Amino acid sequence: MISDLVIIGGGASGFMGAITAVGSGLRSVVILESTSKVLEKVRISGGGRCNLTNSCCEISNLVNNYPRGEKQLISLFNRFSTTEAFDWFQKKGVNLKIEKDGRVFPCSDSSDEVIKCLTSVAKKSGVKVFTNSHVKHVSLTKEGFDVLVKGNIHLEAKNILICTGGHPSGRRLAKSLGHSIIQPVPSLFSFTTYENSLKSCSGITLDVQIKLTVDKKKYSETGSILITHRGFSGPAILRLSAFSARNLHANKYIGELIINWLCMSEKEVRSEIDLYKLENGKKFLLNNKPFNQLPRSLWNALLKSEKIDSKLKWADLSKKDKESLVKCLIMKSYSIKNRGPFGEEFVSAGGISLKEINFKTMESKICKGLFFAGEVIDIDGITGGFNFQHCWTSGWVAGNAVVLKNNNSN
Ligand SMILES: Cc1cc2nc3c(=O)[nH]c(=O)nc-3n(C[C@H](O)[C@H](O)[C@H](O)COP(=O)(O)OP(=O)(O)OC[C@H]3O[C@@H](n4cnc5c(N)ncnc54)[C@H](O)[C@@H]3O)c2cc1C
Repeated sequence: MISDLVIIGGGASGFMGAITAVGSGLRSVVILESTSKVLEKVRISGGGRCNLTNSCCEISNLVNNYPRGEKQLISLFNRFSTTEAFDWFQKKGVNLKIEKDGRVFPCSDSSDEVIKCLTSVAKKSGVKVFTNSHVKHVSLTKEGFDVLVKGNIHLEAKNILICTGGHPSGRRLAKSLGHSIIQPVPSLFSFTTYENSLKSCSGITLDVQIKLTVDKKKYSETGSILITHRGFSGPAILRLSAFSARNLHANKYIGELIINWLCMSEKEVRSEIDLYKLENGKKFLLNNKPFNQLPRSLWNALLKSEKIDSKLKWADLSKKDKESLVKCLIMKSYSIKNRGPFGEEFVSAGGISLKEINFKTMESKICKGLFFAGEVIDIDGITGGFNFQHCWTSGWVAGNAVVLKNNNSN
């Protein structure tokens, strides 16, 4: 029997595609999953809590969270965005909460609840899910596609939806059907600097506005950071790594990170220092600082890095030392020596070229009946639930488009 739709990959986008397609009237939908368990990434996501979307609902702001795919996502989000995803899960019985920073989680703080929701809705609607079913090859037939599954099993399909995430096999299948692939590179990683001068600050989270730039100021981000024993991590660093992922990869993860520790202008910093010096001349530089937002250990480490004697009294701070302090506070340079470990989340930047996909339907422009959704395409977001949102959106659009195509051909 020929299936209306065979979905390759049982992850977030595959399940959303399948549930949407059957929900809109498609009869025979099959999910083929390589491993023994579906939705494994959902399970480990968000530290086991699954940050499944974000409360950001203004589309023009929402798309700014995607280093790749920003333009294409506008039309997709106009159809199924964060609000729709939120409602979708709530209607299916997953109560959601919005955290202070906008991230959305199940109230139960358990990714298992999301998995149970997706698997039970799929089962109830009649989606057939086969695990341990690695798709090795897809070829074109008169009616659609022949799908070769591990164990020499052949399935016939009118339409195919490739949802294989960052796994190379999905990209290989797409390539064999005529698609070009943008080389995948890692995104969302920390920076390794092995900076000796900040060793004493390792483990400090700076939950204030810090301005970061890399690659001769080409990429810039503002936000909180974490000083680690290897270098830097935290939300602003991860965002910066995502936007500069390709450049850093091309430069073998060697670069220069410039930090404005205060997110202030040179003039503002100089005048705050002058005022503090005037009012606190008798105090030692050690531990005494004009900027409350800087932890003492960082302040002392920065003085040391500039070879400024912290036992000096503020009144005795020379003009030269004052200038090097100003420069160090607003444009301290650190050498990036490598890509650090990934944080809670990891995605690949790259995948199926966006030029070859029709973003009204998620159908291939090269091969009729072939659809894509999720991380397999060259779209990725920063941390905050944006990657799953893209999966829900592209899966939903693809699922509906297959139904429409099927109805039109009947
Ligand atoms: C540790 C971690 C935490 C994360 N946390 C979050 C988070 O909290 N919020 C967020 O938005 N994003 C998060 N992400 C990113 C998010 O998990 C991915 O963006 C998302 O899972 C991609 O979904 P997908 O459906 O495209 O692919 P996947 O979820 O990767 O699913 C693809 C599936 O296809 C299967 N497959 C591959 N090749 C074949 C084949 N040839 N035949 C059959 N099956 C195949 C794979 O086994 C896999 O099950 C996290 C990622 C990681 C690694």
